[in-house]
Amino acid sequence: MILGVIADDFTGATDVASMLVRAGMTTVQVIGVPTGVPPTADAVVVALKSRTTPSDDAVDESLRALRWLTDGGARQIYFKYCSTFDSTAEGNIGPVGDALMRALNTQQTIACPALPENGRTVFKGHLFVGDTLLSDSSMRHHPLTPMHDANLVNVLQAQTPQPVGLTAYTTVSQGAAAMQAQWQQHPETRWWVVDAVDNAALDTIAEACADMPLITAGSGVALGLPKVYAQRGWLTPNAQAAQLQTLTGAALVLSGSCSSQTLAQVARWQARQLPAYQLDPLAIASDPDTAFQSAWSWYESQVGQPALIYASADQAAVKQTQSALGVARAGALIEALLARVAQAAVAHGVDRLVVAGGETSGAVVQALQVQQLRIGRSIAPGVPWTEVVDRPLQLALKSGNFGGIDFFYEAINQEVAAQ
Ligand code: ADP
Repeated sequence: MILGVIADDFTGATDVASMLVRAGMTTVQVIGVPTGVPPTADAVVVALKSRTTPSDDAVDESLRALRWLTDGGARQIYFKYCSTFDSTAEGNIGPVGDALMRALNTQQTIACPALPENGRTVFKGHLFVGDTLLSDSSMRHHPLTPMHDANLVNVLQAQTPQPVGLTAYTTVSQGAAAMQAQWQQHPETRWWVVDAVDNAALDTIAEACADMPLITAGSGVALGLPKVYAQRGWLTPNAQAAQLQTLTGAALVLSGSCSSQTLAQVARWQARQLPAYQLDPLAIASDPDTAFQSAWSWYESQVGQPALIYASADQAAVKQTQSALGVARAGALIEALLARVAQAAVAHGVDRLVVAGGETSGAVVQALQVQQLRIGRSIAPGVPWTEVVDRPLQLALKSGNFGGIDFFYEAINQEVAAQ
């Protein structure tokens, strides 16, 4: 293992893993901190759920992940967070980064959430989402991590007692040596927020950071690392890194996301006249076994054709269901039913599952007892096909707004929309 990644949420873990695969590193994503020997891969990504948990818990979990990765031989550690620097007033980026620095006995690290190909850039320490400052973007209304300040030096400084500085684009544009010189001249500064407005800057940052025991960043910085590892002779980039086995069983799409993009994807599938079955949340609430049996008999009648089973509904229908059942109960009932369908489908020979919805994906992965996923090629940015390490089963897990309008069809037909 060359790189050990600690990601603060599941879809973020998949995002960074697909960046690494794209640049030629074989990559396995594990869910939670496992026990036992890490899998054989150039990079191993531990997916935690530590973005909004109490910061003591986030620190504990991250340190356990760190120990497992360093015991497995990781040469460098990467703490991956969201490209919009999602964090609460208490953290968790600062406290987790400080704890990782202490444990790795290192004095400095960077903080760079930039992902220019997705419109996330850092300029003079300020994070932009497209053309707007983070604090003017929709992130200011996020229910869990509202971001009211685009100045990352300030945001991070509020989360750590350690001094935070800025490596501005003027230094980045002079190259890796200039960045390193700045860091060496100010040993008292422990965190450096680094500007990056394009992929060239990310390459320079990767070069400057290659000897840091710890990098903290969004997924962007990971794009440049494999090149640097190759220059050092640590890695032979593998053009087949994204290659998964060819499976010939049936494919099924399960959708529990109600995001506008998923609704458009469901509509597109139906417009293609492909088989689709809509779940009725009230029927699930009154008799989950019968609701399951109805969905399952319908699926069996499709005799192995790719099919879609969905609960996705528009805002008005969701509101109605939620007022009848309660928000949490409605969500849990639907997730449980979709997870049960996934279990039955896999038991009956389905070997490719596409799942729409972050929470829904979590429920399916848990029901199938999936612990390790090898990352394959991307169907859409941030959404790769993945393969369960110990079984011939492939999963494409997408959170709500990801994927183009024909995502389900493209996923099933292995058409690569973006690589
Ligand atoms: P996303 O990634 O779009 O946020 P999630 O799966 O994380 O999707 O969350 C969607 C939630 O909405 C899930 O808990 C799901 O069970 C629930 N849900 C799905 N369909 C309906 C519906 N028709 N009415 C109410 N809740 C629903």
